[in-house]
Parts: sequence; structure tokens; C-alpha cells
Amino acid sequence: MPEVRVRFPPSPTGYLHIGGARTALYNWLFAKKHNGKLILRIEDTDTERSTQESIDGIIEGLEWLGITWDEGPYFQTEFSEEHVARARQLVADGHAYKCFCSKEELDRKRDVAQEAKQEYGYDGTCRRLSAAEVAEKEAGGQPFVVRFKVEREGGGEVSFDDKVLGRVSRSVNDIEDFVIVRSNGKPLYLLCNVVDDIRDRISHVIRGQDHLGNTSKQILIYRALGAQVPEFAHMPLTLDLNKAKISKRSHGEIVAVQFYKQRGFIPWALANFLLLLGWSGGDDREIYSREELIDAFVLERINKSNSIFNYRKDDPKFFTDPKAISINEHYLRTMPIEEIAALVEADFKTQGLWDDAYGTTRRAWFLETLLLIRERFHTIKDFAEMGRAYFADDYAFEEAAVRKNVLKYPELKEWMPALADRFDALPDFNLEAVEGLLRTMAEELGVKPGVLINGARAVVTGRLAGPSMFEVLVTIGRARVTARLRQVGELFARFEG
Ligand code: GLU
Repeated sequence: MPEVRVRFPPSPTGYLHIGGARTALYNWLFAKKHNGKLILRIEDTDTERSTQESIDGIIEGLEWLGITWDEGPYFQTEFSEEHVARARQLVADGHAYKCFCSKEELDRKRDVAQEAKQEYGYDGTCRRLSAAEVAEKEAGGQPFVVRFKVEREGGGEVSFDDKVLGRVSRSVNDIEDFVIVRSNGKPLYLLCNVVDDIRDRISHVIRGQDHLGNTSKQILIYRALGAQVPEFAHMPLTLDLNKAKISKRSHGEIVAVQFYKQRGFIPWALANFLLLLGWSGGDDREIYSREELIDAFVLERINKSNSIFNYRKDDPKFFTDPKAISINEHYLRTMPIEEIAALVEADFKTQGLWDDAYGTTRRAWFLETLLLIRERFHTIKDFAEMGRAYFADDYAFEEAAVRKNVLKYPELKEWMPALADRFDALPDFNLEAVEGLLRTMAEELGVKPGVLINGARAVVTGRLAGPSMFEVLVTIGRARVTARLRQVGELFARFEG
């Protein structure tokens, strides 16, 4: 294979869409697999819609996902002169021509075609103008666009072997003379994109099937410019359950990479989920580390058919596709704890929960606590939310936990402070001692140990469920545990009032 050079060329007109991130991911994987290069090119020629904020968001999103590029970011606008020069060259070589047809004229022709239920394509009026006629119109200051002249003599097809779809062919008769330069002199996407890909020596164009209609036109441009046509791989689209495109307007924030960062996703877990929206290794396997995936990734295993983003807006149980959440949970539970700790640290710092001792004298405690509590968590955010009682005293109480395990037993008003006294009297606050003490006390009181255990859980952690309570108590530590148990009266007052 010749040197692999791929590109990710987003138009910076919004946030980084998860579909765009998937395109970037596939390109990155392919480059990594073949020791190639990924080029980041910002297609900012639409100056009215392009924004710096969008550029920053795209770069931040890619960096967060761990998608690195080898060249760029290049900015398409920096090459405007080259785009114009190539358009001129195409006109000079007879591959393109100036079209003076007015918008009104074209609209009228389109309407006529539509009324006759015929497919509309530009009829080539200006293609037939003589050099003298063109010169005259230009001299008269008549505005014009530049159209690519599709060679239709003898019929024929534009074909290519797509790495995903196989042989794709389109009759030249179905391709109209398309516009490559607007009447304001600005070259359009179809041309700029090809000129840039030629300059960047792109070997493989890996992009969504929504661009399939452009490919045959672009192949004609490559040929007209005398350039080597790259390989193409068109990825399936990702649709919602109603088979509509997923968009911010219809689906909200869940289509933006930024959302997953804010919700405490592990970056590679999101990448792993995005991978599965259009690729499979040919078996049931879903979880791949970066290295495993780089090794396994081949374009030919990209699915042909569209993938479904399984998101039910009104399902309170899942804030995004449940598959994405379950993959995130998998990583949360299995990643080396030091890596989880780094993500938790970053989150704690933004929330004012970070204690420098977690990085030094209390490092071992910090890591053990994360190991203990991560089992039930869904995202990195849960450490600061569901797990808050381990790190701070201003934790919240689940209403159900208090009602079911505290308020139902008014005796706990006395029992919890008594339990605190007994804990204080223990020579050593360890697992065995804590468990023995709790069980003995329950026996003495003639209640099931669960009454004390669940009551203590609700009081000390605010939660209905969690890891083994003896471990929880020892982890939170004697001083905090006893202080909280002694405040049980306030809890009654707060929830009964
Ligand atoms: N700027 C185009 C887009 O964002 C690039 C498409 C392509 O890959 O050629 O859709």
C-alpha cells in the first residue's frame, strides 16, 4: 500500500457531532494501523457560518477523545488563491465554463421540470456559448458561476471501488454540469475539497455515505486536474429509532461530544461506543482497547447499513443510548484505578472536592475508596455525586433511603448515637470489629442486624444501597462515622417536618 494519508475535514459551523467524531476515529484508526498520517483540515470557506468557537470545540473534543493528528490544523481559507487558480485552470483547459444563466431563469426551468415530473439538471445552455459570446457577456458585467463540464459523449459511467460498498457506478447522464465557483467568485466545497486533498496527498477518503453523491463529481474533478484519484470508503449513517438523522435540533445535547465530557464519560469508552456505530470485528466482541482496535481495524469491516442510535428521549433511566452507558460502566469498573483516579481528580478539582492529600499522604486511602465504590457507578461524575459522602460532609440524602431505613424505626434516634459510642470504645476500628459490634448490638436489641446496617448506611452515606457496609464504615473512618450517627436526630427533624 502506498503511504497512507487520511484527513478529517470538519466544517466549523457547530459543535463536534458524535457522527463527526466517529469519522475522525475511523480515519485515525486507519492511519495508526498503517503508520500513516492523519491531517486535520478545517473547512472554513463558509465564512458566514464558521466560528472560532466551533473550531475550538472541535479541537477540544478530538483531544479529549485522544484522537491525535499528525499535520494541521490547516485552514481551507488559507488556500483560497489556489482554489481560484484551479478553477481558472479548469476553464482554460475546457473542463469548466462560465454560466451566465440567472437564478430566475434556472428556477423557472426547474419548475417546468418539476411540473412535468422530470428530474431537473442544468440543461447546458451556457456550455454552447461561443468564446465571443462569453467575452461579450463578461464585458457587459454580467455575473456568472463556473460549472464543471461533464463529458457525456458516448455515455459511460463514473465508477470506483468503495472499500465499504464495493463497486459504485453512476451514469454520466445523471450528473449535471455542477457549479464549482459561485457568482461572487468563491469556489465551492466540491472543488476546494478536491484541491486540498490533492495538495495534502490524501490516499484514502473515509467519510459518511451522505457524501456519496459528491464522489462521482469529485472523481471527475481529479481526472480533469490530472491528479491521482484516492481510494474511497463511505461509512453508514447513524440514525435515530425513527430512521431520522440525529441532530441537536431534534435530539438535543446528546449528539455533541462535549455532552459526554460534561456527563463524566471516560473518553475511550465513548470512542469505543462510536466505533460500534458502524463497525464490527465480525463477532460479538464489543470492547477493544486502543491498541487492540488499531490492530483489528480494517475498512472492509465497516458496516454497509446504517446504524441506530438507540435513544429514547422520554426514558428517565437512560440519558443517552444505553449501550454507551454500559460501555462506560465497563471501563469504569475495569480500567486501572490510577487512570480512573486521574479522571476523578480532574472532576473533583472543578467541584472543589479535591484534597491535595489524595495525591500524597492519603493516596492509598483514595485509591482504595475509588475501588470500593466504582462497582455501582455509571460515570466519573458519580464519584462526586453518589459517592460524595466518602469525600465530604455535605452529601445528599436519598429520600427513599431515609424513609425506608430511618424514619420507619424511631428507635434509631437512640440506637445510632449508642452505636457511635460503642464504635468510639473499640480499640481498633477495623472490618472484623465493626461487623462483630453491629451484630452483637442487634442481638442485644432483639432486631435484625439489617435494621442497624441499613439505618447506618442511610445516615452515614445518604444512600439506599452501596458496597458492603462494614467496608463502607471503615473506609469513611471512625471520626466521620460517629459524628454522622450522632446527628440522626436532625435527619428525623428534617424529613418528618
Ligand atoms: N467539510 C465536509 C463536511 O464536514 C467534509 C466532507 C468530506 O469528508 O469530504 O462534511
